[in-house]
Amino acid sequence: MDHSSDQPAIANISSKKKARVHCPICGPNQTSPVGVSNGLPIVTCQGCNLMYVSECPSMDDTLELFRKEHMKDSRSTQVAYVDHRKKSLEREAVRIRGLLPQGGRLLDVGTASGFFLRQFHGHRDWQVEGVEPSRVSAQFARQQFGLRVHEGVLSEQNFRASSYDVVCSLDAFGCHRQPHEDMQEFNRILTPGGQLAIEIPRHRFRMMTGSGWLYRTFTGRSLRLNAGVNFFYYTRATLTQLAALAGLEFKESHPESMPTSGNRLTQLARNPFDRVSDALYRATHGRRNFCAKELCIFQKPHSPCHSGSSSTTAALQNSTLRAG
Ligand SMILES: [Zn+2]
Repeated sequence: MDHSSDQPAIANISSKKKARVHCPICGPNQTSPVGVSNGLPIVTCQGCNLMYVSECPSMDDTLELFRKEHMKDSRSTQVAYVDHRKKSLEREAVRIRGLLPQGGRLLDVGTASGFFLRQFHGHRDWQVEGVEPSRVSAQFARQQFGLRVHEGVLSEQNFRASSYDVVCSLDAFGCHRQPHEDMQEFNRILTPGGQLAIEIPRHRFRMMTGSGWLYRTFTGRSLRLNAGVNFFYYTRATLTQLAALAGLEFKESHPESMPTSGNRLTQLARNPFDRVSDALYRATHGRRNFCAKELCIFQKPHSPCHSGSSSTTAALQNSTLRAG
């Protein structure tokens, strides 16, 4: 998904009643203001550096937005979730099949058009299904690709414990209003040793392209963070801390490029940038990170593991050191 652009669908969001939000990693903590997007305040937690929307509309308003308003019709679903994301989703499907060469059960949370799950057709060792709150997108995925898609959000599904070998969330986790609870739910529904793949926009890249004087000069807006659709802006380090709190261990991460939107000239300019940043990421194991996105892989321990154990702490330190 590409949730980066501020959208007219939530233009009236600032008039709605809002609730205070605390850092899902530190709880109530000191914060520093970042700015305002779509009428909603954005702050950075001084404890863990997670950037997030600190006053949100009600949960019902957010669910209503994702169910009915965020994606208007099948044409928008095709453009935003298939055309712009095609190459990236094809690459990620290959990578995720590589995590488990023998195949298994996979759940894609925020499956959008279903184009990612479509990449598993013909791979008989894989049984795949999705969860998608948008009525339009869920229907698109069923009709276009014949997929099994559960309509709604993760917390409404009541999946059985230890029922998936892989859970994916591709450019969607920043939209989750209750990330701590949902991370725990990922852990609960994964089999022991199961893997969680979360794709996030790279924080510095997003801030570079969506804020600053150049952005203000050309757009007249201060931030392109689409608050109200996005609620949390993770880095590899903050995502790893949140996963560790839920008992999941950082395993590895991979570079990803931005969606292929824009005119032909923009896309021509992006190709060499993507190639160079990808090569640099791989050569330095993610220490030099200029990519637009990252795919982070976490693993549920084979045996019960308490938060703060030596292995979880080591994984967290490793990822924090490498965070870009
Ligand atoms: Zn924090």
